[in-house]
Amino acid sequence: MEDHDKDDDRLHRIRHSLAHVLAQAVLELRPGSTLGFGPPIDDGFYYDFILSEPLTEDDFPALEKKMKHIIKLGQKFEREELPKADALARIDEMGEPYKREYAQELIEKKGLDQLTFYRNGPFLDMCDGPHVDSTRELPKGAFKLRSVAGAYWRGDSDNAMMTRIYAWAFESKEQLEAHVKAYKDAIARDHKKLNRELDYFVVDDIIGKGLPLWLPNGTVLRDELEKYMRELEFHDGYDRVATPQLAKTELYHQTGHLPLYAEHMYPFLELKEKVETEEGTHEEVRETYALRPMNCPHHHRVFAAQLRSYRDLPLRLAEYGQVYRYEDSGALSGLLRVRGFCMNDAHIYCTEEQIETEFLKVMRMIEQLYETLGLKDYYFRFSTWDPEDPKGKQKYVDNPEAWATSERHMRAAMEKSGLPFVEVKGEAAFYGPKIDVQLKTVTGREETVSTNQLDFAVPQRLGLVYRGADNTEHHPFCIHRAPASTHERMVAFIIEHFGGAFPTWLAPTQVIVLTVSDAFREYGEQVVARLRKHFVRAVFDQSSETMGKKIRNAVTQKIPNVIVVGEREQEDGTVTVRRYGSRDQATVSLDAFERDLLERIRTRALDRVDWES
Ligand SMILES: [Zn+2]
Ligand SMILES: [Zn+2]
Repeated sequence: MEDHDKDDDRLHRIRHSLAHVLAQAVLELRPGSTLGFGPPIDDGFYYDFILSEPLTEDDFPALEKKMKHIIKLGQKFEREELPKADALARIDEMGEPYKREYAQELIEKKGLDQLTFYRNGPFLDMCDGPHVDSTRELPKGAFKLRSVAGAYWRGDSDNAMMTRIYAWAFESKEQLEAHVKAYKDAIARDHKKLNRELDYFVVDDIIGKGLPLWLPNGTVLRDELEKYMRELEFHDGYDRVATPQLAKTELYHQTGHLPLYAEHMYPFLELKEKVETEEGTHEEVRETYALRPMNCPHHHRVFAAQLRSYRDLPLRLAEYGQVYRYEDSGALSGLLRVRGFCMNDAHIYCTEEQIETEFLKVMRMIEQLYETLGLKDYYFRFSTWDPEDPKGKQKYVDNPEAWATSERHMRAAMEKSGLPFVEVKGEAAFYGPKIDVQLKTVTGREETVSTNQLDFAVPQRLGLVYRGADNTEHHPFCIHRAPASTHERMVAFIIEHFGGAFPTWLAPTQVIVLTVSDAFREYGEQVVARLRKHFVRAVFDQSSETMGKKIRNAVTQKIPNVIVVGEREQEDGTVTVRRYGSRDQATVSLDAFERDLLERIRTRALDRVDWES
């Protein structure tokens, strides 16, 4: 019995019907089991059971065989409607206590007068349908049992624990195979799984939940991303600043984050100290500090620290800034849900006339970053104000004119960019419209990575001003932007995107040097030393394994450039190079290898050999 929408499309009916076929097969394999719910889901269906004897994934082949047999029998799905008393008697006959409970509820709470049953072959289920006409219509090669899990009856932990069997089901074998491949790929690329093999970070309980420690390999990824963003920002005229990770709570009262945002912040720090007054007496001073949940207020204070004239604008203040936000411990996961993170932040203070140009420059920066990372499948989502929103006044700053101006400039910038975008009403930030970049990941998920927001309200609220050409004071607009997101999110993302096999410029170890025997160790170490002089992350393999084992280890570590040296290489001043993803190797002069390698690093080339260009 399932919760039904009356969706009558073919795939829905197939999944529905297969759930009955699975239940029939389970009852044959485990007689005396009873049934819970068995609905279709996004990529197939599941069915819940109280089993007379446990089932594991080892039983899947037997179950699938039975299901295929049932399909071959061409059992007809026959619908029957019974008045409520007869229906309950029927369910008692079936010996299904959970179905009985649900039927009772449908009758009492929903006021149903009759209940629907479907019979196919010997199997009877209380269910609304819809189904296919005969099991023979079910595409045989297009379903596959996926996993076994525990699930409480009706999702309530006070209820009995049932066994849930999940299955994939599609209309064709090709669709099923493509889906299973994408699913396995997603699992293989999961950043937490790759982290166990490649050591990017650890979460240590004595440090605190959601506060990852970055290991050397992960730190390289952060550093390289940061270095790249700093270069892009430098070219676009940003100034870097450095600000502390905490501030007095007073600041957040001023910005309006407190008291409302307090639930997303760490508990405050109380500072007490005795200070000497001018009269030479002592008095106790108490101050309350907060770990910052965002960098903006600090940057606004930098803006306010000096007199600003229109000639100083646009002023672009950049900082990879560490922030802390409280998240429920249950929600924490790997690098994606954390309590501390470091943001590729900047605030651009500008005049109204400068908005379009500045906005466009940020869009171009995002475009360039994505091109460098080989990200192709993305679009921009432009979130605007909804003047009709019933909660409008709490949700948005109440300034229709400023909304109109901001949105006009942003729309103009988007149109000039020529980049694909969709406009979504009612999803703006509190202080202004924003643009998020929606990225399709390698595994088909859609994620928001970069963001670019216009703020017309906060500079006003904080009294930030510049002196205009007219010699009076004006409030600047502020653009908040984070093209490379946070280190945590971006690194998790690129680990999955590259599957841990990074292009040379990003790879934690860029080159590993192996020797065929210890006799060539000195030459091997010379090669390493020479590359390291050029800041290449080259290492010498110290192990005493066989050559085959050394190469396999380098491949497991997904090191992009493996160099082998022996007698011939030592005599000729050459190296034998194997690139990740290729079985070919070539012997070239050390000079030529170094030139080519440094060029690939300098241009941040997507240089994996198996890379589709
Ligand atoms: Zn059904
Ligand atoms: Zn900001």
